[in-house]
Amino acid sequence: MRNWYAFAKGRTDGNQSQRDLLGGKGANLAEMCNLGISVPPGFTLPTPLCLQYYDDGSALSESVLHSIDEGLRHIEKSLNGPKFGDSKNPLLVSVRSGAKVSMPGMMDTVLNIGLTHTTLEGLAERSGNRRFALDSYRRLIQMYGDVVAGLERHDLEAPLVKLKEDNNLEFDHQLTEAHLESIIESSLEVFESLAGFAFPQDPLEQVRRAVAAVFGSWRTKRAITYRELNDIPEEWGTAANIQAMVFGNLGPTSGTGVAFSRDPSTGGHRVLGEWLPNAQGEDVVAGIRTPGPLHGDDETADNDVKSLENEQPTVYAELIETLGRLERHYTDIQDVEFTVQDEQLFILQTRNAKRTAAAALKVAVDLVDEDLITESTALNRVDPEQISQLLHPQLDPDADKVVLAQGLNASPGAATGLPVIDPDEAAEKAKDGLNVILVRKETSPEDIQGMHAAKGILTATGGMTSHAAVVARGMGRPCVAGCRDLVVDEQEAKVGFRVAQTDDVLWLEEGEELTIDGATGEVFRGRIPTIQAELGGNFARFLGWADKTRTLKVRANADTPEDAETAVRLGGEGIGLCRTEHMFFAPDRINVMRQMILSDDEESRRAALKLLQPMQQEDFEGIFRAMGARPVTIRLLDPPLHEFLPQSNEDIEALAKAMDTQPDTIRRRADELHEFNPMLGHRGCRLGITYPEIMEMQTTAIVDAACIVAEEGLDVKPEIMVPLVMEPEELSRIREQIRGWAHRVFERRSVWVDVTIGTMLELPRACLTAGSVAQHADFFSFGTNDLTQTTMGLSRDDSGKFLPHYVKSGILAKDPFQSIDQNGVGQLVKLGSDAGRAAKKKLKLGICGEHGGDPASVGFFHRVGLDYVSCSPFRIPVARLAAAQALLNES
Ligand code: PEP
Ligand code: MG
Repeated sequence: MRNWYAFAKGRTDGNQSQRDLLGGKGANLAEMCNLGISVPPGFTLPTPLCLQYYDDGSALSESVLHSIDEGLRHIEKSLNGPKFGDSKNPLLVSVRSGAKVSMPGMMDTVLNIGLTHTTLEGLAERSGNRRFALDSYRRLIQMYGDVVAGLERHDLEAPLVKLKEDNNLEFDHQLTEAHLESIIESSLEVFESLAGFAFPQDPLEQVRRAVAAVFGSWRTKRAITYRELNDIPEEWGTAANIQAMVFGNLGPTSGTGVAFSRDPSTGGHRVLGEWLPNAQGEDVVAGIRTPGPLHGDDETADNDVKSLENEQPTVYAELIETLGRLERHYTDIQDVEFTVQDEQLFILQTRNAKRTAAAALKVAVDLVDEDLITESTALNRVDPEQISQLLHPQLDPDADKVVLAQGLNASPGAATGLPVIDPDEAAEKAKDGLNVILVRKETSPEDIQGMHAAKGILTATGGMTSHAAVVARGMGRPCVAGCRDLVVDEQEAKVGFRVAQTDDVLWLEEGEELTIDGATGEVFRGRIPTIQAELGGNFARFLGWADKTRTLKVRANADTPEDAETAVRLGGEGIGLCRTEHMFFAPDRINVMRQMILSDDEESRRAALKLLQPMQQEDFEGIFRAMGARPVTIRLLDPPLHEFLPQSNEDIEALAKAMDTQPDTIRRRADELHEFNPMLGHRGCRLGITYPEIMEMQTTAIVDAACIVAEEGLDVKPEIMVPLVMEPEELSRIREQIRGWAHRVFERRSVWVDVTIGTMLELPRACLTAGSVAQHADFFSFGTNDLTQTTMGLSRDDSGKFLPHYVKSGILAKDPFQSIDQNGVGQLVKLGSDAGRAAKKKLKLGICGEHGGDPASVGFFHRVGLDYVSCSPFRIPVARLAAAQALLNES
């Protein structure tokens, strides 16, 4: 069986649809060859070979070795000249990883493979540029040492750094041939002493070991972390691409760069990119040297690298034309790596660009307007999680600000926090609940955990395509990169900023915060207040398409009039859960609530309830007014009374004073009410069964409020929800009582409002007996938080101690409190829905657990056939999009 796939002008085995097999990079290289774009020839070793590599005990099988030989012959044939290992005209190749989805900077690449003492001379002669050949060899030894031999980068770079220091050189291009020869000699020594074997002088051995290293890089710590953060399955594996080298470091008429067909930060319709003359690809991506712009208009006085447009106008024109072609072909923004070798353009890679949420939305809308994609395709182009990033606050334009420095606006959003230089420390501090800004000279893939933990990222070097910028955008973290005035003193763990026009550095005090604005690239001193994001324009239009598409409605979990207003602003179609107990936690209410709970008898309980009733009624009126004609589900008191009990002596004494009693009396009553397992204790409708006067007060407050607001002319739609039902008889009794209390209010006010009565399904038994429960309900709302807790026997409060381990070790694919356990808890939702609907065709079905804002769960609830999901107000836009995608992706 042949297990390599050629790509070259005139012979290409793959195409863009084969991402699973060839990885994203391989599939796109093949497709570009099919399109006739200038791509150096090569071949792809497909992803199953990566898995086979592990099955074979981290070794390449005979058949893979044979494929590598065949593939190399294919490249030689395509180029019709250079031969691998040839001393006169040597072919050099790169070996690069390429998984199904791109994992920027996470996996490994080795360039210039095939260079040895012998081929070096051939390359020097053929290129007429011995310095270039030496520079390529030096890079190979370094990269090979890092990727293949697993040596430390700073050990490998030491000879270069030392020589530059000894000779007082600032830049690599100042190195002479003699310098490079001496670096090579020292590097080979460093390599051999640290690796325990000599740098291979057999080109075939070089390429084989590099392929093994690329397959091996799939399981490095940083790749595993990246996969965990991005939900990428381990079993995908990576492909390896072996491709003829083209050289950007051949002299001033060569170079390398990265370009986006549109701005991945804003979505603006203008090519954005950077290039470095006389350099190889890693120099741009690693952010070590600050590159120059593509367009002449973007040249600046403080950057001595001129634009590609002015340096190489023909190449520039071809690049712009190619980007346009690729974008039209893939109908999406492309992120392209290119190399110019002696004024000839080569495209080394294209992929759909990672982009900020703002750019994702703008591009999706613009591509529809440009007739390149349909509205449905546009809806599938934006990740629902990205939508939530657009809701992130922006800096208040009117706030006082002290600008410390200006960098590149690498990833939008504002963030304030303590500057931390060490990524591990950043992760630690974030774990302790501190907001941190990760401040680095430049970031590298090892920093990923610190980047994830930080609220924002600030770097001194690197451009818009540096590692920091790309990864931050992917994660939705605000990032300012290339901030030249930033000074990072790693030794002293100090962060400072150069003061303009002086040699001074302003060092931040210990504990002093800073704020970054990833949308403008500015860095500010201290904490700056923020304001809400703009939700009109493209945002409204795009979500309008989602609303037109979806059938699943989206409501909010909202407990206050302010939450209700936010819900309406974000497109909520009702309130799916108003947790009335949240209204009692306000400082002026909690003591009245505690009095009610601690009452010994009905009379004193009623006295406290009487004080609570007007407070509740006022809140309900506010919520009804905010929601207008949208349905509002109000849940009767649910949590264990235990949760309201005073704990500290101070609270107990204050309460005793308010109740005109002794602290010990309070303590005694609190002891009586104490429960060992409150989540399964005296809570939910059990409270209503034992203390009906609580439900009576709440029902009266709800119905009074509804009548008042109805009289103001609003078509209110109150829905009273009974929590934690386990037995149909509970609901049957409570329903009758609610109807009676409501009726009393209608009569008293001579106003009649439609009030529906339903229940939460949050216990397995309620789902199992849903047909009978439905007899007494107008609606069901699945409380998937409690249903997860009770179905899986996982405490909502205590499972944090071990659940992360379950997820990390793969026992559970996801945290079931975040994303519904479709095979278990989800099946109870399905069973409850089907049985409920079978008993009562018009039964309204919703869910109000936290899962209502999780895109995967929303998809599941759509498939189960629920009428709505309810989630926290800020997740509403996420759920609207997820619901539309669920419908579009129905098979
Ligand atoms: C639930 O259990 O899913 C629910 C929404 O109720 P709570 O989280 O208030 O228990
Ligand atoms: Mg619950």
